[in-house]
Amino acid sequence: MPTKSFDPLKIRADFPLLSRTMNGRPLVYLDSAATTQKPNAVIEALSNFYRESNANIHRGVYPLAEAATALYENTRTKVAEFIKSPSSQNVIFTRNTTESINLVAHSWGRKFLKEGDEILITDFEHHANIVPWYQLSKEKGVKLKSVPITNDGQLDMAAFDRLLTPRVKLVAVTALSNVLGVRPPLQKIILMAHQNKSLVLVDGAQSVPHEPTDVAHMDCDFLAFSAHKMLGPTGVGVLWVRPEILDTMDPFMGGGEMISTVKLDTITWADAPLKFEAGTPNYADVAAFSVALDYLTHIGMETVRQHEKTLAAYALKRLLERPDITVYGPKILDEQGSAISFNHKIVHAHDVGTILGEEGIAIRVGHHCAQPLMEALHVPATARLSFYVYNTTDDVDAFINGLSKVDQVFGLAKSAI
Ligand code: PMP
Repeated sequence: MPTKSFDPLKIRADFPLLSRTMNGRPLVYLDSAATTQKPNAVIEALSNFYRESNANIHRGVYPLAEAATALYENTRTKVAEFIKSPSSQNVIFTRNTTESINLVAHSWGRKFLKEGDEILITDFEHHANIVPWYQLSKEKGVKLKSVPITNDGQLDMAAFDRLLTPRVKLVAVTALSNVLGVRPPLQKIILMAHQNKSLVLVDGAQSVPHEPTDVAHMDCDFLAFSAHKMLGPTGVGVLWVRPEILDTMDPFMGGGEMISTVKLDTITWADAPLKFEAGTPNYADVAAFSVALDYLTHIGMETVRQHEKTLAAYALKRLLERPDITVYGPKILDEQGSAISFNHKIVHAHDVGTILGEEGIAIRVGHHCAQPLMEALHVPATARLSFYVYNTTDDVDAFINGLSKVDQVFGLAKSAI
């Protein structure tokens, strides 16, 4: 259960957008897997940065520039602490999870993979963890394979075992499905991959914001996530790289700040992480991200996990009670992550989303950038609700009441369903 001091109603009061109305109704925001709302502290940190601290970083020697650089680097240290990385030198700032994964494909994949090698992903993956590998596979003649899911929406571990051949050089897997809220057995996957001498990239876009993360314990080789999904500003992503691999990787983009010396015939690179951060980075948003990390740390990531677990179990239970709804995934109350996908048995997901939207309830509908997963589920689209620290069981109740409105609009009496 959440700790005694955790009160989502108090938390809500920190989020100005959550007190606005939609169509004259209170906003019920259940789309945090897409992006989270921002607390006042983060919004203020961002505007204060521009008011008081703005200067380009890593360049100027005057105090304002040095202070701006310190704010940027301070966030790097905080990110390292947040994911329990012993060093911050292997924390690279990017624009988002997508860019972090592309960086690995470009700087590690292009250098180390050759024709005949294989990359193993899973049917859970978001397009961000498919498309860069597809592009690399076309460029390098590398084979891209995917681990299927079982009928009840779990990763098929027998198939994983079969597909993990000696040719697999990289396993790229999500820690938590953005569609089904399922956690593949990450520790087992990493152990098996390492025994096979394959590296492991973990897409942490949906796990790092929602539960404690310990990269050393996880023992992955790359971890990617986005600030905007964890109360931070848009335009900031993180890539953590195992230190032994970091120095072997080529730069991602070329330009200012990622070099040590430049002559027309020889260029030497800056040390990591700057080697991977060409040009002026998104330093203002990075500075404000530090406040989001403080906010989450203050709540405690275990508390975040427990709170969402309670909400997800409650929402799942209420959805499963309804004969008009199909829920996708294993449907285990205790294990449901912070996202739940479902469909109305008669009404299309887009209509469900539109009607709920008119009621002030924001959920996501569509393929959720996971078309192979939609194919595995044999549906073109699902409706998805997802939670964060500011959600309450009242939000779930409002959502469930909204579903009755859907039935009403479509003239579906309960007995007809
Ligand atoms: N992976 C997963 C599992 C996601 O849910 C998302 C965002 N929906 C991404 C990657 C991509 O994140 P971003 O758009 O911030 O790059």
